Amino acid sequence: MAILSASQLEKEFRAAQTVARRLEGDLYTRVGASVLTAGMITWSGMVTVALIWMACIFVNEIIEPSVVRQLLRNNEASKKRLALYTLHITSGSAIWAGAGVALWVTGDPAIMTLGAVLLLGTLMHVTLIYAVSKILVVSVSSPLIIAMGIMALLVVADDGIATRDKTIVIFSVLILLAYLVMLLLTNMETQDEMAKLSEDNARLAREDTLTKLANRRHFVEKIKITQARDEAFAIAFIDLDRFKPLNDEHGHAIGDEVLKAIANRLKASQAIDFAARLGGDEFGALITAPAKLDNLGEALNELSEGLVIPIAASIGPVSLGASIGCACADESLSDHSKLMHAADIAMIRAKSEGGGVATFDASIDAGMLEFAEVESAFRAAVISGQIKAALQPIKCVRSQAIKKYELLARWERNDGGRALTPDEFIPMAERLGLLNQVLWSTLDQALPEIRGTELTLAINISPSQLLSAQFFAKLNSILRTHIVPASQIELEITEQIAVRNDKENLAHLERASESGFSIVLDDFGTGYSSISLLDQLPLDKVKLDHSFIRSAMETDHGRKLLSAIVGLLKRMDLRCCIEGIETAETEAFVTSLGCEEVQGYLIGRPEIIRSKCEWSTLIAV
Ligand code: C2E
Ligand code: MG
Ligand code: MG
Repeated sequence: MAILSASQLEKEFRAAQTVARRLEGDLYTRVGASVLTAGMITWSGMVTVALIWMACIFVNEIIEPSVVRQLLRNNEASKKRLALYTLHITSGSAIWAGAGVALWVTGDPAIMTLGAVLLLGTLMHVTLIYAVSKILVVSVSSPLIIAMGIMALLVVADDGIATRDKTIVIFSVLILLAYLVMLLLTNMETQDEMAKLSEDNARLAREDTLTKLANRRHFVEKIKITQARDEAFAIAFIDLDRFKPLNDEHGHAIGDEVLKAIANRLKASQAIDFAARLGGDEFGALITAPAKLDNLGEALNELSEGLVIPIAASIGPVSLGASIGCACADESLSDHSKLMHAADIAMIRAKSEGGGVATFDASIDAGMLEFAEVESAFRAAVISGQIKAALQPIKCVRSQAIKKYELLARWERNDGGRALTPDEFIPMAERLGLLNQVLWSTLDQALPEIRGTELTLAINISPSQLLSAQFFAKLNSILRTHIVPASQIELEITEQIAVRNDKENLAHLERASESGFSIVLDDFGTGYSSISLLDQLPLDKVKLDHSFIRSAMETDHGRKLLSAIVGLLKRMDLRCCIEGIETAETEAFVTSLGCEEVQGYLIGRPEIIRSKCEWSTLIAV
C-alpha cells in the first residue's frame, strides 16, 4: 500500500469540496421543501407541529454547511467533529421522518403519498450523500427506517386496505432494508480500507523504506517526546566514512546492502536505545538509559567499534569507518534543533579528526553552533517566504524622474535572532544553494509593481547563478508569468562573474543581452576595477561604488579619479550610475561630471514592498 500521491490527495480534496458544495446547496432546497411540507401540515390543522418542525429544520440546516467546512478543514479535531456531524445528520433525518409520519396519519391519500415520497427521497438522499462523506449510514438512516416501519404497521393494521396492497407495502419496506444493508456494508468496507490506508501512511511517513529504521521525522519526534519527559538523555549523529567512494565504485545495490547491514547493527546495538536513518549515510541514535548515560564514553566507543567491523557484502568484506558526534541534552541545548546542530557539529569535528567519537563541547564548538543555527534559520526563512523584496529608487539625472528601482533582499527575522544584512546573508544563500530561491521569491514580490508601467527593475545576479544552466529559462518563465518584458530588466553583475569563468559567462551574458536584458557592471571600484572588463563584457552601464564618492568628497585626487572614470565611460558609450549619494552637495558634484543616473539615501532608501493584502489586513485590524 502506498502513501497517497499528490494527485490522489488532490482527488480526495476535490471530492471533499464537492460534498461541501452539495451540502450547501441542500440548505436552500430543503428550506424550500420544508415550507412546502409545513404548508401541507398546516392545511391538515396541525399548526403547532408545523411551527416546531420548521424551527427544528432551520436550526438543523443552517449549521450544516459550517460544520462540514470545519470538518474538512480541520483534521485535528475530526473525531469530535465527526461525532457532532453524525448527531446532526441523525437529528435531521429524524425530523424528516417525523414529517413523513405526520403527513401519513392525515388519512388523506394525496397527502399520504406526499409523506411517503418525502420519506423515500430523504432516505435515498441521506444514505447516498452521507455514505460518500463517510458518515455511518445506520445511525443516519435509522430514524427514517423506524418511520417507515411505523407507516407499514399502520397500513398492515388498517382493515380497510386489501391484502395484496399490504404485501406490496411490506415488500417495499424489505427492499429498502436490503438497500440499506448493502450501503452499510460498502460503507464499513470503505472505512476499513481508509483506516488501513491511513495506518500505512502513518507508518511509512515515519519509517525509512530501505533500512526500516525510523526516519528523520520520527527521530525528531522521538527527541521532542524525550525532551518533554525532562529526563537526561544524549543523541548521537553517525556519518559513515568512505561510503561515497564505495557507492560510486560498486553501485547503489552494494551501497544499499551496506546501509541495511549498518541499520541491523544499530538495531541490535546495546550501546543505544533508539536508532534512525537521517538520510544518505547518516544515522542518528538516542541514548536514554541512565546506566549508559553514566558511562557515555564507553557506550559511544562500543557503538563505534560495532559499526567498523567489516561487513560481509556480496562483493566480499567491506570495511567502513564511522564518525560519531554526540550531544547531551542540557539547559544550553534544551531546544531539539539546537541539540541536533550540536551533535552534527561534534560529528563534523570527529570527521575532521579522522573519524571516531567526539562530544559537543561549548568551549570549542559554540561559534560553529551559532553559525549552524543562523544557517538553519535562514533556510527556514527562505522556505517560509520571510525574505522580503525592497526597492530603492534610481534617479535619471536629465529628467530628474525616478524611472528605475533596484531590487534588494531583506531578511525580516521573526525568531528574535539578530537581523543580518544582505552582505551577510547573500553569501550564505549562495553557499547553501538558496540564492535562486531568494531571487525568484523577491521577483514575485517586485514584478507586479512594474508590470504595465514604464519602470525598469535592476536585479543583482551572482556568478554562481549565471553559471547554472536553468537560470535564464527560469528567469524568463517568471517574467512571462508576470507579463514583464526582458527590456524592463537590468541585470547587475559584478567583476567576479568575469573572474570565475570568463568564456562561459560571456556567452550567457551575450545571449541575455541579445534577448533584451540590459547588462550593468555593479560595484565598479571595489574589486580589481579592471578596465579591460569594460571592453570584454557586453555592458550597457556601469555603477560606480560608494567608495568613489567617499574619496571624491574627501580628496582632490579622489575627485580627479571619479571625473576621469566618468569621462572614460562616456567615451566608451557606457552609461554611468553613481551609488551612495547621501547629500545634495554630492549630487550636485556628480551631476556636474555628466553621469546619467544617481542612487543613494538622498534619492530614497530601499523600502520593503508591503503587499496589498498585508495592507488590507492591517486596515481591517
Ligand atoms: P549593491 O547591489 O551595490 O546595492 C546597493 C547597496 O547600497 C544596498 O545595500 C543599499 O541599501 C546600499 N545603499 C544605497 N544607497 C546608499 C547610500 O546612500 N549610502 C549607503 N551607505 N548605502 C547605500 P544592501 O541592500 O545592504 O545590499 C548590499 C549588497 O548585497 C548589494 O549591493 C548587493 O550586492 C547584495 N544584494 C542585496 N540584495 C541582493 C539580492 O537579492 N541578490 C543578490 N545576488 N545580491 C543582493
Ligand atoms: Mg546592485
Ligand atoms: Mg552596487
